[in-house]
Amino acid sequence: MERLIFAEEHDQFRASAARFMAAEVAPHAERWRREGIVEREVYRKAGDAGLLCLWADPAHGGAGVADLRFDQIVIEENVRGGEPGFYLHLHSNLVAPYIAALGTPALQGRLMPRVVSGETILAIAMTEAGGGSDLRAIRTRAVREGDGWRLTGAKTYISNGILADAVVVAARTGERTLGLFVVDRGMAGFERGGKLGKMGLAAQDTAELFFNDVQVPGDNVLGDPEAGLPALMRFLATERLVAAIASIAAAQTALALTLDFAATRTAFGRPVGLFQHNRFRLAALRSRIDAAQAWIDQLVLLANAARLTPEDAAAAKLVASELEGEAADLGVQLHGGAGYMDEYRISRMYTDARISRIFAGSNEIMLEIIARGMGLDERGVP
Ligand SMILES: Cc1cc2nc3c(=O)[nH]c(=O)nc-3n(C[C@H](O)[C@H](O)[C@H](O)COP(=O)(O)OP(=O)(O)OC[C@H]3O[C@@H](n4cnc5c(N)ncnc54)[C@H](O)[C@@H]3O)c2cc1C
Repeated sequence: MERLIFAEEHDQFRASAARFMAAEVAPHAERWRREGIVEREVYRKAGDAGLLCLWADPAHGGAGVADLRFDQIVIEENVRGGEPGFYLHLHSNLVAPYIAALGTPALQGRLMPRVVSGETILAIAMTEAGGGSDLRAIRTRAVREGDGWRLTGAKTYISNGILADAVVVAARTGERTLGLFVVDRGMAGFERGGKLGKMGLAAQDTAELFFNDVQVPGDNVLGDPEAGLPALMRFLATERLVAAIASIAAAQTALALTLDFAATRTAFGRPVGLFQHNRFRLAALRSRIDAAQAWIDQLVLLANAARLTPEDAAAAKLVASELEGEAADLGVQLHGGAGYMDEYRISRMYTDARISRIFAGSNEIMLEIIARGMGLDERGVP
């Protein structure tokens, strides 16, 4: 399907993002997957290539381009030809916006230029061993001490947990309130566990983080320390659209890989893609992926106009992550035994895809958000 949301400048940018992925990411990806972590250097190279935080203020080294289509292109090209475990979208689109929108001028001045250049790598830590879906159950505590705060607690399943130089941490500041705090590499009492072994996304370093009475200076508080929860709610809508962009890109890639394979692999004297059962399944998947892509592209334009609703973002994340799972599953099936072999990318896409229905808010939580938006909550059915 032709996509009308992109102009020539986007196409040119896409070509340069694709070149970057082919030259600086793909050749190293297998080693990164073996080592369970990407090289720090690739963030700096992405910064040099102008692929990080395109939206950031030129005063901080950014391009000042508040057009999510460019970020969408970086994500799509990373999924298609780079390495999905290289989490540059987490850095640029999920974490950096908190610092740019809520950080003090001093914090922004100190961090943002290095975030844009890729010298400082970011992570965000909300989830705890006791629960991830229910942010109100967070137990990590921040207690005011002089001009700063003392942070105590532990987080788990944190993406970029090993690489991160600065982590946005959600912590309880009162009985019903959360605050957001930036914890820098090297702060006394900030420790990390080892890399957690995972089913997929092998190149992504996921870790536990420990905060043992970490003294966080007042300048590292993001916005009102009592208003972390509304801030998270505000930013989570974009996070979910970004997750949807990555998922639908993965679904597109899985379908393309499968079509290539099914066109050349023969059984009973004909390509396996030509059996009616398989043709119809591929045709149905093509149609549903195109429908979701058109909708997500529309939501990107709504995000550009600051009119993306949490419900729309949740619905896109729900549908795109389910399609990603279905495309990877059908892909493995049509590859036959090859689809189960490490040698074929589709086998990796299958295990990588499984997390998309769980993180960035599980799909059950997405359904909750959508249902509440329809008025289906304790106030009763409309
Ligand atoms: C690879 C990976 C990377 C991650 N990266 C990060 C990160 O960078 N930062 C971060 O903070 N977290 C991260 N997470 C954590 C992730 O966001 C959580 O795992 C997710 O939100 C689910 O939380 P949980 O694991 O505690 O499951 P739980 O909240 O315990 O949920 C268990 C099950 O119950 C369901 N459930 C919960 N509540 C309801 C409800 N109201 N109605 C119906 N069903 C419900 C859930 O959908 C799920 O199926 C990551 C996780 C993984 C695996």
